[in-house]
Amino acid sequence: MKSYTTHNMLRPWTGRLGALLLPALLLLAAGCRENDVPKPAESPPAVAAESPPTEWLIETPVPGDPNRVWTRPRSSERQDDRRRMVEVLRDVYGLNDPPVLRAMQSVPRHWFVPETQARAAYIDSPLPIGFGQTISQPYIVAYMTHLLDLDPSEKVLEIGTGSGYQAAVLNEFTPHVFTIEIVRPLGERAIRTFRRHGYETLHVRIGDGYQGWPEEAPFGAIIVTCAPEDIPQPLLDQLKPGGRMVIPVGPRNTVQELVVVHKNVDGTIRRESRMPVRFVPLIREKDPR
Ligand code: SAH
Repeated sequence: MKSYTTHNMLRPWTGRLGALLLPALLLLAAGCRENDVPKPAESPPAVAAESPPTEWLIETPVPGDPNRVWTRPRSSERQDDRRRMVEVLRDVYGLNDPPVLRAMQSVPRHWFVPETQARAAYIDSPLPIGFGQTISQPYIVAYMTHLLDLDPSEKVLEIGTGSGYQAAVLNEFTPHVFTIEIVRPLGERAIRTFRRHGYETLHVRIGDGYQGWPEEAPFGAIIVTCAPEDIPQPLLDQLKPGGRMVIPVGPRNTVQELVVVHKNVDGTIRRESRMPVRFVPLIREKDPR
């Protein structure tokens, strides 16, 4: 399986300078270490009310690795739509987790949905993303992220990259996000989306997530956004003692249960069922598609 890391890409603002400057920048970049590349300001540029939408990057050193940069892209576009979405999560669902609500306010969901669905990007509903797959509804993304209880020092593995939105939300909590997608065109589209908007620390692999990502194990947290009939043993094996896995488990094309799996420090497993959910099935490489 090949994997792709968005780390070390040209930043989007360099891309936007257009074809004229690109060859010169590439020549320059070839001789540059990442630290030599000039960085955009950390805070958003001042924007007049009627200005077109702006994108910017919040950049901080990766904790424990000051030579790497943790980028969290931002957009001034549709902030009010996101605010209303967050109000629903907080006031209707009673999700009282300020860091998760901040992450949901910060990540522009409309970057991740197909253009035909852009108007619906902030309603609390799953949306089709092509290839028979869906981006989960915002409440499920927020609730699963809440259950993961992430820490910036932890590695997190997602199975089912889909649009890339959940991975982008995870990137708000830790610069160590690894995500696997089995449908190649979806994985490639997510990589393009990450690249376009400046996500630099996300690691994407195209392949069967049932097997996990053994070279990067163990993971402090694992989130599965497609439903297997049973919890995959390789994922249990790759969970760190003290780690959490959030996973929908159950039969295909009907209701599953959302399960939180805790791996105790002695390696034993504790399993808690949270609520009924409905996810697309986890596909195996041998399945007909
Ligand atoms: N987390 C996604 C939603 C994913 S929908 C988002 O934020 O948009 C579930 C995804 O799981 C689909 O894209 C599907 O192709 C993928 N998937 C299904 N089986 C898989 C497997 N075995 N390994 C990796 N990805 C898988």
